[in-house]
Amino acid sequence: MLRLEDSYLHKGQRRNLTQTLRKKGIKDEAVLEAINNFPRHFFFDSALLSHAYEDKAFPIGEGQTISQPYTVAFQTMLLNVKPGDKTLEIGTGSGYQAGVLYCMGAKVHTIEFNEVLYDRTRKFLPKIGVKVKHYCGDGSKGLPEQAPFDKIIVTAGAPTVPKTLLKQLAIGGVMVIPVGDRNTQQMLRLTKQTDKKILKENFDNFAFVPLLGEEGWQ
Ligand code: SAM
Repeated sequence: MLRLEDSYLHKGQRRNLTQTLRKKGIKDEAVLEAINNFPRHFFFDSALLSHAYEDKAFPIGEGQTISQPYTVAFQTMLLNVKPGDKTLEIGTGSGYQAGVLYCMGAKVHTIEFNEVLYDRTRKFLPKIGVKVKHYCGDGSKGLPEQAPFDKIIVTAGAPTVPKTLLKQLAIGGVMVIPVGDRNTQQMLRLTKQTDKKILKENFDNFAFVPLLGEEGWQ
């Protein structure tokens, strides 16, 4: 399949994208390296292929999007992923963010609400060598059977921080989640210092599709 070839042109486009992200403030070399190595064009239909290395979100069907590279880089940088970290992603979508985390050595569990996307991505990622665990369901409730997690990344906009997700974070664990209204959300990083003490840090505003489900938008 032509789409799954990684040419010199694609590699050059990725290098340029990485430079753009660096200029926009992404300083974490491990994140930049993962984005530089992991082909984003594999996640695009042939009609949109020429846009794969623009710093933009794109439709992936089912009314959902593959996040903008800057957003992926920013969330991943805040997450401070280390090799071996047990990581939960909520909102698998195309699988690109899960692939970036996998490239950084995380052990990724990813959950998607939409059955069509779940099924498509679960079949696709192994074809490009990305081995992560896929689940279909309401990720606003997390994945209690696999908790605790060292890292939790939410890639859809939540109305509040789901309490269930905080419970599923290990002590010392980090959650990155956009929280706000349906149009704009502020990126938050929550570090579970002890069972009762959560450090909350606020970052820039972003625009995500809504987190649905019990602890999301009804
Ligand atoms: N991380 C994705 C990627 O790399 O392509 C982009 C995610 S997209 C911006 C948000 C995704 O969250 C959508 O695929 C949507 O179906 C999913 N979603 C929304 N609410 C959810 C929930 N409660 N549980 C799991 N997934 C959810």
